[in-house]
Amino acid sequence: MELFVSDSCGFCVGVRHAVSLIESVLKENPDSPVYSLGMFIHNEKEIERLKLSGLKVVDSIDDVPDGSIILLPSHGTPPEIKEKCRQKALESVDLICTYVKKLQEIALSLKREGFDVVMIGDKDHPEVRAVRAIVGDLIVVDKAALLNDNLNLSISNRYGVISQTTQSLEFYREAVDWLLGKAFPKKEVRVYNTICWDVVERQAKVQELASQCDVVFVLGGRKSANTRRLFEISSETTMTILISDLSDFLPDYVKGKERIGIISGTSTPMWFVDKFIGLLNSLDADIKMKKDGDINGQ
Ligand code: SF4
Repeated sequence: MELFVSDSCGFCVGVRHAVSLIESVLKENPDSPVYSLGMFIHNEKEIERLKLSGLKVVDSIDDVPDGSIILLPSHGTPPEIKEKCRQKALESVDLICTYVKKLQEIALSLKREGFDVVMIGDKDHPEVRAVRAIVGDLIVVDKAALLNDNLNLSISNRYGVISQTTQSLEFYREAVDWLLGKAFPKKEVRVYNTICWDVVERQAKVQELASQCDVVFVLGGRKSANTRRLFEISSETTMTILISDLSDFLPDYVKGKERIGIISGTSTPMWFVDKFIGLLNSLDADIKMKKDGDINGQ
């Protein structure tokens, strides 16, 4: 059995930065509770690990006692929540990723220049909700909008298009084509590609893995948008299994398989990837480990 472990496993740069910041805050404040507003990353395993070090996760800002330390999520925080933090005299540590921050800056500058902002993404994703809170009216283009062809874009003459950072490149292209060709005749349209490079790279790598392997394991949280997209892309080509807990694995998945691929979402810790590799190794002592460069048979 050959095991191809993608180089794109473990945290992306934004999540790595957020986790190391949290670890320092927890270490420097052993006697004060540190709160996270919702899941700061979409990975239950990593959140559980940090909870053991003292992190407290709350769903509402109202559940945080005045004067406490609060961690604001990496996918952005709406202005009204930041205002509530000020009113409650909370000490905020903003974990926002630089790519998400850049996306918000572009959205705001489009709004100020008089463009109606169109975001290609999932309407309920926290990143989209944060942008909506910043720019006010936000037109969200998702798969349903394309399918039903029901967006009303006839009023404004200027549209600025951005994308959720974890959007699939394929859907982004499809949506931009649709917007340009169908929805925007004779209008001014400014298009920004705000998809994160790490997400794009993982999507290309999972495609390559899927084309060469009998089964691909995508490791990550079930609520993680970018993990789900890796799963969808790989599923189009080969048998693909989403592993968010080691108990999701069944030995039958690898029975008779010769080439196995492993990749992870951007919020999946490397320690979880290593545990999964250990599990596979425990089934077959002769397993041969390969890296990205080996995938085409070199
Ligand atoms: S996936 Fe990209 S945008 Fe999201 S946190 Fe990671 S580096 Fe930042």
